[in-house]
Amino acid sequence: AITPAALAAIASSAKHGILFKGGVHIENMGRLKAVAFDKTGTLTIGKPEVQAALIHPDTTQEHVYRIVSLIEEHSMHPLAEALVQYTGSYTGAMEHFKDVTGSGIEATIDGVAYRVGKQKFADRSHDFFRDEVERLKAAGHTLVFISDEEKTIGAFALRDTLRPEAKQAIERLNHLGIATIMITGDNEATARAIASEAGLTRYIAECLPEEKVEHIKRLKQEYGSIGMIGDGINDAPALATADVGIAMGEGTDAALETADVVLMKNDLNRLSSAIKQSRKLNRVVL
Ligand code: ADP
Ligand code: MG
Repeated sequence: AITPAALAAIASSAKHGILFKGGVHIENMGRLKAVAFDKTGTLTIGKPEVQAALIHPDTTQEHVYRIVSLIEEHSMHPLAEALVQYTGSYTGAMEHFKDVTGSGIEATIDGVAYRVGKQKFADRSHDFFRDEVERLKAAGHTLVFISDEEKTIGAFALRDTLRPEAKQAIERLNHLGIATIMITGDNEATARAIASEAGLTRYIAECLPEEKVEHIKRLKQEYGSIGMIGDGINDAPALATADVGIAMGEGTDAALETADVVLMKNDLNRLSSAIKQSRKLNRVVL
């Protein structure tokens, strides 16, 4: 049963763009000690754009673009859309297509097996434009590598934009004594750059989708109580594991369904307002 006071609190929060799916989540929100943020689509707007293309001198741009376009056309990943838009459209048949969640894609074209994805998954030569790759990562770019059966044939650097209010939202949470942590599947150097841009002192990088839940459990033990905010299908299990699961209003259906709280306007600043309001309400009997 829901008390009239809790109902009134839910209605008033909804007017301010925060949807609580029950009074108990207001209570839990008021007790949070830390909040974990997904990177892509949560701290950033989730629309990455290609900023640079590196092509191995032994191959052609046309070839690399064709392989990437043909493969990424079949992926739903946010990076895939940006890559297809950048490389253009091509015709060609593909076999043995395999989407490796959190890593990239494997497929055979014209009898050759290719990989497109993160460095650990798709980079076959360590000297390939290494300085340039490290420079791009340190500047916050996400790198996507393309390799055939022998070597890396190219790499793309993509950059997503931080939400304009992200830094202020983190500051406000920290001011309330809430610890803030970023969790991402992206590589260490890129994660460090984005975290620093957002004013986050703590981040967990190279996190596989299935590891997110374990990290949330560990953070829960460490801080006593943890909120998790995310937007993707991959985030749903972590949202369910957190004391308070928070979804971005424009997130995927899986995130919206699993979450306890929805930020309807995608505005990260509403987080600290919601916590403040919940703390106040916890002092009266719900
Ligand atoms: P995030 O936590 O940033 O949402 P993911 O867990 O989805 O990242 O992916 C981790 C990394 O794996 C990406 O940064 C990217 O380098 C690589 N990756 C995953 N899927 C793809 C894909 N379809 N195409 C290219 N790269 C991919
Ligand atoms: Mg995301």
